Amino acid sequence: MNKFLTSFNSKDLPSVKTDILIIGSGVAGLSAAIQAAKYGKVTIITKDKLSENNTQKAQGGIAVALSENDSSEKHIEDTLRVGCGLCNEKTVRIVVEEGPVRIKELIQWGTEFDKQGARLSFTQEAGHSIRRVIHAKGDATGAELERALIAKVRQSANIKILEYAFVIDLLHKDGACFGTVVNIKNGNVGAIRESPKKIVYARKVILATGGIGQVYRETTNSTVATGCGMALAYRAGAKLIDMEFVQFHPTTLYVAGLSRTLISEAVRGEGGVLRNKHGERFMFEYHKDGELAPRDVMSRSILKEMRETADTRVYLDLTHLSYKLIENRFPNIMEVCSSFGIDIKKDFIPVRPTAHYMIGGIKIDKNGKTNIQNLYACGETASSGVHGANRLASNSLLEGLVFGYRAGQSAGKDIDCGKRFDRTSDISNVLDSAGARKLDIGDLKASLKSLMTRYVGIERDERSLLAAQKEINFWSSYVMGKEFSDIRDWEFQNMLLVAGLVQKAALIRKESIGVHYRTDYPEQNGKEWQKRHIELSDI
Ligand SMILES: Cc1cc2nc3c(=O)[nH]c(=O)nc-3n(C[C@H](O)[C@H](O)[C@H](O)COP(=O)(O)OP(=O)(O)OC[C@H]3O[C@@H](n4cnc5c(N)ncnc54)[C@H](O)[C@@H]3O)c2cc1C
Repeated sequence: MNKFLTSFNSKDLPSVKTDILIIGSGVAGLSAAIQAAKYGKVTIITKDKLSENNTQKAQGGIAVALSENDSSEKHIEDTLRVGCGLCNEKTVRIVVEEGPVRIKELIQWGTEFDKQGARLSFTQEAGHSIRRVIHAKGDATGAELERALIAKVRQSANIKILEYAFVIDLLHKDGACFGTVVNIKNGNVGAIRESPKKIVYARKVILATGGIGQVYRETTNSTVATGCGMALAYRAGAKLIDMEFVQFHPTTLYVAGLSRTLISEAVRGEGGVLRNKHGERFMFEYHKDGELAPRDVMSRSILKEMRETADTRVYLDLTHLSYKLIENRFPNIMEVCSSFGIDIKKDFIPVRPTAHYMIGGIKIDKNGKTNIQNLYACGETASSGVHGANRLASNSLLEGLVFGYRAGQSAGKDIDCGKRFDRTSDISNVLDSAGARKLDIGDLKASLKSLMTRYVGIERDERSLLAAQKEINFWSSYVMGKEFSDIRDWEFQNMLLVAGLVQKAALIRKESIGVHYRTDYPEQNGKEWQKRHIELSDI
């Protein structure tokens, strides 16, 4: 496999340098930047505007053991149970026990969580044994978090921000990373204005590039969630782990033509119920917890119900809830629905499951370090082992906060350790541009998204996974190793690589566990698979 997506020679490209380079500006990247800036000069690179990411879309909230009748032990127990025995217990403990400190810090920095009187307000979500999820402005938790973190980042003279800058490749050699090759779309910082391709040299690089939802036809994710970080790391020789575990969210607003909008789990936590097209409530036929069953069970049950009723959706019914509750807790959901003529006080909301969260990713240790020298990762692009085979609702923002903090601290403290790049030598790559221009990447992208939804989606089996493998290999044979010059094309190359890794891991794991459901192996295969993780790398 070619180790780079673009042709370059480090000696020839214009360059800038920084101490710690952070790629991504969601909860993980911003948290890492705030910490790293205590130790050196930090540059944040982000491919769209600063606030375009999955973080700002988060609705439900952040799970944290802060209520009077809660405890770390209870939160740990719930996380381990939902993770189906595949969580790394030490990591779970770190996230759960450090979470309350990170939340108190956020409050000090001005994050306004919703309150009942003087106390934080906690809501219920699936899998939690107690009301544990704090939220902000009803259903705008992520946006409030992003606002507060951006404000904090902007206060630091040590942090430089580069928006609309796309990281094409990591600058790597012999198992060490020295920076990135970046494409600047609308260059907005001094030295990097005049040419589109630049090198940013860095002593430490932190990948905080988020998830892969865009690899699927239907997703709740932002358009930036194209798996870039995982592909960048993989090409550099990093280990990826648990790639078969893609979480689907059961209730996404389904209106043809509208980008898929999440209808938060908290809506069901507050009493919303699911009905099929005949108006029948069905979830209790599938699970004793009804609408608060784990997400994987919900998604498969909805799929089955859709098949049996020959419908493309099911319906979320909030009509029995008090208007005041809906208005206070879910103002954004109410507004989005009403813009499509759906009055959630009297109409059912059409919903279906879509790709939502990537559990697998770049393998990291408890300080966010990867197996590549100078390279760290945190947030959704990384896999710390906290989620096991199934993520407990609202644990990911918490993980982003805790591991963003840890990666930033660790990269900062280690700033003087590790290999340095000798600029008298060079790193270079040559690719063939012939043929690339003839390809309709838009068409390929749509085909890949459909393929993944159909064959590597909520349910998979050997036949579907092999069919996916055949197509992915065929497309790769003429897309990979070609020189492209556009961000959308590089993104597609990353999506294709990551799709192949999800498919590969899903084919290897011959059992059903958590979010990975094989119709040909519907049971959890305790003996053979217990505690086994699938690691993929190109070394
Ligand atoms: C609709 C929705 C609702 C959710 N609700 C909740 C919730 O209530 N509670 C919860 O805990 N979790 C929730 N999640 C999950 C959670 O929001 C994410 O897991 C989390 O925000 C990921 O944060 P991150 O910092 O890792 O990535 P992101 O916030 O996605 O940020 C990734 C960043 O990387 C940048 N980037 C990517 N590739 C490149 C590249 N090649 N070059 C430069 N920059 C790049 C992007 O531009 C972006 O800034 C939700 C997710 C969605 C989509």
